[in-house]
Amino acid sequence: MYHQVLPKELAPKDNLIVTTENLEEQFIYIKNNFTTLFFKEIHKEHHISNKIILTFDDGYYNNLEYLVPLLEKYQLKATIFIPTEYIQNGMQSHERNFMNFTEIKSLNPELIEIALHSHSHRNYSEMPIEEAREDLKKNIEILKKNSIKFSSVLAYPYGKFPREKDKKRAFFKMLEESEITAALRIGNEIESYPWKNKFEIKRIDIKYGDNINIFKWKLKLGKLKL
Ligand SMILES: [Zn+2]
Repeated sequence: MYHQVLPKELAPKDNLIVTTENLEEQFIYIKNNFTTLFFKEIHKEHHISNKIILTFDDGYYNNLEYLVPLLEKYQLKATIFIPTEYIQNGMQSHERNFMNFTEIKSLNPELIEIALHSHSHRNYSEMPIEEAREDLKKNIEILKKNSIKFSSVLAYPYGKFPREKDKKRAFFKMLEESEITAALRIGNEIESYPWKNKFEIKRIDIKYGDNINIFKWKLKLGKLKL
């Protein structure tokens, strides 16, 4: 799981940022040891052993500037999760924090898969289920209205979803009814496919200061400490 990508000289020390320098080193390691896949094709690629899915949340403009060139250079695939309200707000401001819908639409579909990250980027664990249903529906409708092809995979904002037994069951039922095929949390564990629970897929959080040895270790164990 990644968010922003910035060259070292422009990158504040923030765990939601990976430097282009570190990312390139990580991509070289991935290129040599793994096959990157999209969520939409994972079901038909059972025969591939070292599968990996690279995910980038929020649709930052710096993904277009610095991630896309690296994906092209190493011919790697990644999935970008779009919170549609961030994009709408971004298009009304002068700051270029996020890609606009035209840019998202123009991303090379051979290398980038678009998926869902809610509309308003609020915490789904603190929301009534019907409100979450409406929010997710907006996320889907706005991408469709902008003719952006996407996979019906959701990355939970902040990795959060209801944990209490009954609410969780009702929430997962809502995801089924909304035709969500998989949903991602954080969790720092290695997941294999078929998923243990398709609505609680764990991702490994790659942080700002992770050097290549930490990165390799995380890909082996999911986390640094056992
Ligand atoms: Zn996010």
